[in-house]
Amino acid sequence: MNKELLSMLAPKTQNLEKTSGNNDSITTEDINLMLSYSNLSKEEYNFLLMKFVSADTYRNSFVSEIAIRYIEKEEQVLDHSFINRLINLAVIECCEPKCVFCGGTGFITTINSKSVCPHCNEGIFNFTDHVREHLLKIDDFKKYKKVFRKLIDIINNIEMSALDKIGDT
Ligand SMILES: [Zn+2]
Repeated sequence: MNKELLSMLAPKTQNLEKTSGNNDSITTEDINLMLSYSNLSKEEYNFLLMKFVSADTYRNSFVSEIAIRYIEKEEQVLDHSFINRLINLAVIECCEPKCVFCGGTGFITTINSKSVCPHCNEGIFNFTDHVREHLLKIDDFKKYKKVFRKLIDIINNIEMSALDKIGDT
């Protein structure tokens, strides 16, 4: 199954764009059925719906599942709400890297000029450590770099496994 089909599960109000003609024969029931036969773990299921359907409820479940997994594994004690913020940022970097300044176009356009957007690389937002410090409201991201890398790896592995199981490779 192509992962793009998952967007059909989005609530109708969020999905005003007309779906392309060749998917018309597939219904949301078909997609739910395919998902139920895919043998996805709860994390993988929530990940797919979070990323491709973008419903906040799935995102919250996903973040807390990763938090539990991380907290169980690590000896290093970090504040729970900080871990949650860290995971949320990792999720954003993995799932929604589109630059908000230029809308993912890679260019800042004004009435009389068009210039390359300084915040991104061809529309993919450039998360520098400075940006991360700002988003996490901390002074020194370097301290958390290793933890963050690990979270990114966990999320990437879940995505790969999930896409593999639904047959989108
Ligand atoms: Zn940009």
